[in-house]
Amino acid sequence: MKRQRSSLLFSAAKRYMPGGVSSPVRSFSAVGGEPPFIARGKGSRVWDEDGNEYIDYVGSWGPAILGHAPDDIVAVVCAAAAKGLSFGAPTVGETLLAAEINAALPSMEMLRFVSSGTEACMSAIRLARGYTGKDLVIKFAGHYHGHSDGLLAKAGSGVATLALPSSAGVPREVVEHTLVAEFNDGVALRGIFSQHRGKIAAVIVEPIAGNVGFIRPQVDFLGLIRELCDQEQALMILDEVMTGFRVAFGGWQTLAGIKPDLTTLAKVIGGGLPLAVYGGRKEIMAKIAPLGPVYQAGTLSGNPLATACGLATLQRLKAPGVYEELNQKAAFLTSGLERLAARYDIPLRSDFAGGMFGFYFTHEQVRSYAEAQQTAVHWYPRFFHLMLDQGIYLAPSPYEAGFVSLAHSQEDLQATLDAAEQAFAQLRV
Ligand SMILES: *Cc1c(COP(=O)(O)O)cnc(C)c1O
Repeated sequence: MKRQRSSLLFSAAKRYMPGGVSSPVRSFSAVGGEPPFIARGKGSRVWDEDGNEYIDYVGSWGPAILGHAPDDIVAVVCAAAAKGLSFGAPTVGETLLAAEINAALPSMEMLRFVSSGTEACMSAIRLARGYTGKDLVIKFAGHYHGHSDGLLAKAGSGVATLALPSSAGVPREVVEHTLVAEFNDGVALRGIFSQHRGKIAAVIVEPIAGNVGFIRPQVDFLGLIRELCDQEQALMILDEVMTGFRVAFGGWQTLAGIKPDLTTLAKVIGGGLPLAVYGGRKEIMAKIAPLGPVYQAGTLSGNPLATACGLATLQRLKAPGVYEELNQKAAFLTSGLERLAARYDIPLRSDFAGGMFGFYFTHEQVRSYAEAQQTAVHWYPRFFHLMLDQGIYLAPSPYEAGFVSLAHSQEDLQATLDAAEQAFAQLRV
């Protein structure tokens, strides 16, 4: 597959932008080679600047749950744009979308719109500290909650639970208020709670770890977090930025019957425009300015195009059978991958929930980031490029979830499995 024009465009982009990109994973540094420049998308497909066509399983990293550029949603956004792009003043779209989110996720009694998942998680943490009057926050290794300073933390060495910065430019003193625990390790989590009694403001967790592939919570692990938070009067923040309206109408909490104190959402709820939200119990949200002392604001927050797009997207997702359809598609794809890999003697384990899936090159079940790192991730770059050259666009990193949309047809899924069979055959030689 020729990508000459993309290559030239990439060189031009690198002149002005670090790595030629606006977000690091897009540069293909995890898989090698150069990224196709995307010219347009429709339904399950995207086309690059050289005219190559791909079946897309990145879906803008989650938002494109209806497929790309659905006619009805585009019409709604155009109509909203014609009325004005942004006012920085209250608009009815915010209340309509807030009511829709509240009906789907009753734990979000009140909420605040922001523009990115990063902002939502950062603000939820500030709020948890402001509400509890405590400073320590527990996060899990490999879970991603955006790039705010305090959450760019990785586990320190040995048994110390105090975190180290995972990025240059983050002061040690900032991440000293972050504790990093292993996902799905209840014993260790209990240990951390008893070691820091009376000091823990919040636990922030992805219900499914989707930024290191796909790792589902072991039975009762999220229930244990709920229980420990209640005991210690700490807040449970469920980061449903990826899982929200992706695994079910609502989110993982809807499926699992978990009631977090605060929830963060982004990706699907904006339908492709920059929109995110954090919210939870009324008495907690009442601490946010202007009602309370915790400050948080945004010039473009609750933008009228984004709320119109989000509302129209949720309305489509409300139709009966939507999540059954997504589940069936993801099940067909992942079970097919496992079956074909086995045929070529390639160890592969996959999992899915709604329209979100992942796979690792391993025979073992993966329960944590540490275990994910022990899988044969070095096979991924080769597999990725074998797929890309057959017109299948997977995430350009082994540590990312994949996404199917309502626009993916049975033919798309079968074509993907046919390509995977070719790739597995070549991986073996
Ligand atoms: C994508 C993501 C974020 C960050 O959202 P941005 O909009 O990229 O800032 C936070 N948490 C989770 C779980 C995510 O998947």
